[in-house]
Amino acid sequence: MLYYLVAEFSHKIYEKGLTIGNGGNVSVRSGEYMRITPKKLGFKTLGDVTPYEIIRVPIDDPRHPKASSESFMHAEIYKRTERKAIIHAHPPIACSRLHKGESFKVPDYEGKYHEVPVVPYYPPGSLELAKAVAEAMDEKGVVLMLYHGVVTAGENLREALIKLELVELGARV
Ligand SMILES: [Zn+2]
Repeated sequence: MLYYLVAEFSHKIYEKGLTIGNGGNVSVRSGEYMRITPKKLGFKTLGDVTPYEIIRVPIDDPRHPKASSESFMHAEIYKRTERKAIIHAHPPIACSRLHKGESFKVPDYEGKYHEVPVVPYYPPGSLELAKAVAEAMDEKGVVLMLYHGVVTAGENLREALIKLELVELGARV
């Protein structure tokens, strides 16, 4: 079940230390809809999300009072690409670089380092950020957001999670 899958990967991301505090959101596409993590409530983190809290929203109109504040970003990527799974996170080492205004190269599965798209700062949750990230998303499936965090996308959540780990590795180099 997609609700369980989104919750399971939310827990993995939090437990691996790939997002800090209550930042980050996770989604998968299924036809015209996506399943996405909920808006943060109080001190809840991705590590606390239950399958029952995952929200199903149309990709065409992702506004929902309980859906993640970055729902527009996930929806815009699904509209413009064939990607089926997206993770947005605030990995600590990557963020420490991005918050200094630095970008960095990211390794692929073979350990070769590549430039990846970088977007300037836009307010979190804004349509401007959503459009900038979706336009920047290329075949590598990784976008760095200056002064904010990281978005990875793939065929499935496993691929998006591996990319997130590779981003954090790239930020250390
Ligand atoms: Zn964020």
